[in-house]
Amino acid sequence: MMKKVKAAISPTREENYPLWYQQVIKAADMAENSEVRGCMVIKPWGYTLWENIQKNLDVMFKETGHENAYFPLFIPKSFFEKEAEHVEGFAKECAVVTHSRLEDDGKGGLKPAGKLTEELIVRPTSETIIGASFSKWVKSYRDLPLLINQWANVVRWEMRTRLFLRTTEFLWQEGHTVHETKEDALEETFKMLNVYVVFAEKFLAIPVIKGEKTESERFPGAVSTFSIEAMMQDKKALQSGTSHFLGLNFARASNIKFQNKEGCEEYAWTTSWGVSTRLIGALIMAHSDDNGLVLPPRIAPLHVVIIPIYRDKNEHKEVMGFIDQLTKKMKSLRFDDNKIRVKVDDRDMRGGEKLWEWIKKGVPIRLEIGPRDIESNSVFMGRRDKQPNEKQSMNSDKFLKNITSILEEIQNNIFQRALQLRDENTMNIDKKDEFYNFFTPKNKKNPEIHGGFANSHWCGSSDCEEKIKNDLKVTIRCIPLEAEKEKGKCIYCGKESDKRVLFAKAY
Ligand SMILES: [Zn+2]
Repeated sequence: MMKKVKAAISPTREENYPLWYQQVIKAADMAENSEVRGCMVIKPWGYTLWENIQKNLDVMFKETGHENAYFPLFIPKSFFEKEAEHVEGFAKECAVVTHSRLEDDGKGGLKPAGKLTEELIVRPTSETIIGASFSKWVKSYRDLPLLINQWANVVRWEMRTRLFLRTTEFLWQEGHTVHETKEDALEETFKMLNVYVVFAEKFLAIPVIKGEKTESERFPGAVSTFSIEAMMQDKKALQSGTSHFLGLNFARASNIKFQNKEGCEEYAWTTSWGVSTRLIGALIMAHSDDNGLVLPPRIAPLHVVIIPIYRDKNEHKEVMGFIDQLTKKMKSLRFDDNKIRVKVDDRDMRGGEKLWEWIKKGVPIRLEIGPRDIESNSVFMGRRDKQPNEKQSMNSDKFLKNITSILEEIQNNIFQRALQLRDENTMNIDKKDEFYNFFTPKNKKNPEIHGGFANSHWCGSSDCEEKIKNDLKVTIRCIPLEAEKEKGKCIYCGKESDKRVLFAKAY
């Protein structure tokens, strides 16, 4: 019988999901709260994840014709004011720079001085400041499409923050594009939404639903907003990326005009799209278990960690020699286009302690190698997609031959598990009382846990949407693009509807 192992993370998901989330981050040493309220310090293990997200997304952006550029952190208030809905949407979370220096306050401290003639907003998003450049760059239809991406930090003053999910300052990318026609801009909006779908599913192993946002959840100033939505293990939805069709709104605000083929001047069509460090929050909540982080190999900072097992100096030398040969061979192999990322943990610590550290950090493959393994030319392997004590001895040549397929299998298992969770907790619901019951937590000790995703009919009225939100804290996450037309009745008011929409509690 297998010995029951106590979970490494306390509390467990079942006991207290929000606290479990914090503990996973802490145990994996990914990030911490900073001295600055609402801002996080991203530690190397968390930052490498972000770098891997960046690297892979950046390739996809470039393959679709985009180039990177960089724009100012500060936006003059007057730029911001040009788009009325935009300013209204962001007004409550803007950090405003009002002074340019400090001077002696005569009481042993400092006071701000050098009041600016125009206040500067620390960018919460860059449509208006990038628009100012675009208005100069775009002259003729020959300059279009203009396809730009920026990797940057942004600030949105948040009252209630949570590492990676909601922080006052966060890292992201924001794509901004300009097009000749409405059709071109719409095509770009969907193209980038699909880039996010592929990235989330292939790299992060998170299945997502793509759809359009309702008016109440639309990006301030956009004509339409599309998003990808993922189910977390507490069955809540996490919006994991957005793509906006901005129509002519921002072109009018920033005066982005071009001369068309007929020689007439007209406003251009623009889009914007982004994902942020929130994806790391999604990664944690979609896959991790009660022993800590679980990382899909394609995004993991390390694919393999090797722990040498020895009793004395002689054994140490022998074991390290074997490991050296093995890692050399491993590093010459490739998983996708990347070298196998391997680390030998030769710290002066107990082997068991090291093992648990790497389990909590979510490394896909752990190898323990000692004199007995060397004798039989084998490795002792543990996989993060399996139980910690479910280990397997494997001939080391066979291991090398199969390493990429093992990584592929782990990636796949993690995706399938997330997909299964979502499928098991998604229901078509047509009765109002059933809908209300579905979203009512059954376990009083853990009020976060409820039914999951409901596909239900909606008449299209923001009034019904608002009432459901007030009653249950449930919102329409999106109107799925792949939903089929189907006659039905609004889950709230009973009026005619021709499509189901996705209802869920959300982060
Ligand atoms: Zn209704």
